[in-house]
Amino acid sequence: MTDPDLSQRLANVRGGIADAARLAGRSVDDITTVVVTKFQPASLVRELLELGVRDFGESRHQEAQGKAAELAGTGIRWHFVGQVQGKKARQVRAYSSVIHSVDRESLVTSLATPVPDQPGADEAGAEVDCFVQVNLTEDPARGGVSIPDLAPLVERVLSAPGLRLLGLMAVAPLGADPKRSFALVSELGAQMRGIAPGARYLSMGMSQDYAAAIAEGATHLRIGTAITGNRPAAVNLKTS
Ligand SMILES: *Cc1c(COP(=O)(O)O)cnc(C)c1O
Repeated sequence: MTDPDLSQRLANVRGGIADAARLAGRSVDDITTVVVTKFQPASLVRELLELGVRDFGESRHQEAQGKAAELAGTGIRWHFVGQVQGKKARQVRAYSSVIHSVDRESLVTSLATPVPDQPGADEAGAEVDCFVQVNLTEDPARGGVSIPDLAPLVERVLSAPGLRLLGLMAVAPLGADPKRSFALVSELGAQMRGIAPGARYLSMGMSQDYAAAIAEGATHLRIGTAITGNRPAAVNLKTS
């Protein structure tokens, strides 16, 4: 049984995405909605699966790993959208279809395919899709590479075996006009394609600002609470 409120929220967001796409003269087929289920139980993920969702986002490794194990065999594509610790990078890679938060050279090194005969070499040949996350704020704690350091990081990803660069990811800064923020990301994406022609995707837009993101060319929306409802409380927050 699925919760009627959940299916209603999902329908509302799908409608909002369709409206924003129509306004922008874009096809909804070019937009992937990743439903962010951090702090939510696996049972909610199962309900969303029944409603046809296949792309799910998580931001905390332990929680994501547990859900991926519990829901193995369901055909879910897991998108990792949170900050990746270097020493957990290979584990994150193991269950993720897409990593949205590549933000530093050392992480690229950790995520890249290991050379033969090194630990993890059995994964050789497999590629993981990734986005480079850009930080649009002055606060390094927000995650993402600063704009001046973006081009060298993109070069580094392009030369790393086992990583396929999809494009750029960003979070609109609080208090800023999201449309302007997303226009900047779109512009940075266009510049990046000078060195990475295939990297044509943009991961941007959350519950509050996905319409603005669609208007600026988002191809991957990361939507949590507008679909899931509020995240369960602070008991979980402490263990992050
Ligand atoms: C939690 C989260 C989201 C979803 O946020 P909502 O406001 O719940 O839609 C999107 N992106 C990232 C990186 C997140 O951590």
